[in-house]
Amino acid sequence: MKKIALFGGAFNPIHQGHINLALCFDVRIKFNEILLIPSHISPHKDSSMLLSGEDRLAMCRLAAKDHARFSVSDIELRREGKSFTFDTVCELRQLYPDDKLYLIVGSDMFLSIDSWYRAQELMHMITICAAAREKGEYDQLIEKQLVLDTQGVKSVICEIDELPVSSTDIRRRLREGLSVEGMLPSRVLDYIKAHRLYES
Ligand code: ATP
Repeated sequence: MKKIALFGGAFNPIHQGHINLALCFDVRIKFNEILLIPSHISPHKDSSMLLSGEDRLAMCRLAAKDHARFSVSDIELRREGKSFTFDTVCELRQLYPDDKLYLIVGSDMFLSIDSWYRAQELMHMITICAAAREKGEYDQLIEKQLVLDTQGVKSVICEIDELPVSSTDIRRRLREGLSVEGMLPSRVLDYIKAHRLYES
């Protein structure tokens, strides 16, 4: 039985906070594969500033190059309409019938997971891996984990060195011509510069 991690997001763009999160669980759980899954239309976000799926996919592929177990899936970009994680997990379950599926999420997504589309079914199909985005969130995560435990939902909380980076802040900095050095993998930054993305 392989351990497959699903890591979805807008990845607009993918940044070191995402990578830090995935790697901390990789160290802890020792996945066979970590699938980065850029969303088509996120149910959780305003899509007005969203770059094309093609660009976000390309940046995920560049970020994945540095990590042997990372791969990138266009499963959500190929599906019309909102990218519900429930639908993605159902599709991937068919592809990985005998393997254990994990879902990696940051604190904001973990704390709001009950409101997701078909949340109860989803949460019973995977093991959730959640960590803090900012300092001081750990207690809240543990509290949430205890509630989920009582519902029979499996989760793993990892105490990480938080990296409070967001795609929103990176987009703003790029728009304003500020440095984003160290916030993104250098290959991704090179791609953004070469394609003059997020400039206005
Ligand atoms: P935006 O600023 O555009 O809303 P974002 O930075 O939140 O984007 P997403 O692509 O929406 O990035 O996030 C995908 C997943 O990664 C979510 O589960 C989110 O909680 C998690 N995540 C994003 N940034 C971090 C971070 N700095 N540390 C830990 N987890 C993060």
